Amino acid sequence: MLSDQLINQLKDCKTDKELKVVFKKIASKSPDDYFPTQELKKLGYLRKHCECCGNYFWTVLNEREVCGDPACSGGFQVVIDNPSKIKLSFIEVWKKIVEILEPRGYTPIKRYPCVARWNPTSEFTIASYLTRI
Ligand SMILES: [Zn+2]
Repeated sequence: MLSDQLINQLKDCKTDKELKVVFKKIASKSPDDYFPTQELKKLGYLRKHCECCGNYFWTVLNEREVCGDPACSGGFQVVIDNPSKIKLSFIEVWKKIVEILEPRGYTPIKRYPCVARWNPTSEFTIASYLTRI
């Protein structure tokens, strides 16, 4: 049950960004109400508190002390110590995804340039998508 103070904070939100900040506070206080925490724990995930930004995050690495935000982890990372024995390039990953999803009813769309707002180190990137018809 939300406190009157939190309900009023939600009501006072004028933008989705403000709403996200308040909701993050609510979900962080009682994660079991908003996330499948029991399933995550069964899968070996731990809920930890980032030493850098103070947000909570899930990880399978017990020694990890910071979340995956590039500002906290020291740069953009997708996979740490990738255990895969198969090394694939970006294009090979794309082809593998098509190989898996196309038989399941997805249709690959030709690649096209777009702005990568999440990544300040690149002006644009090439997007590739699959669509389900
Ligand atoms: Zn962090």
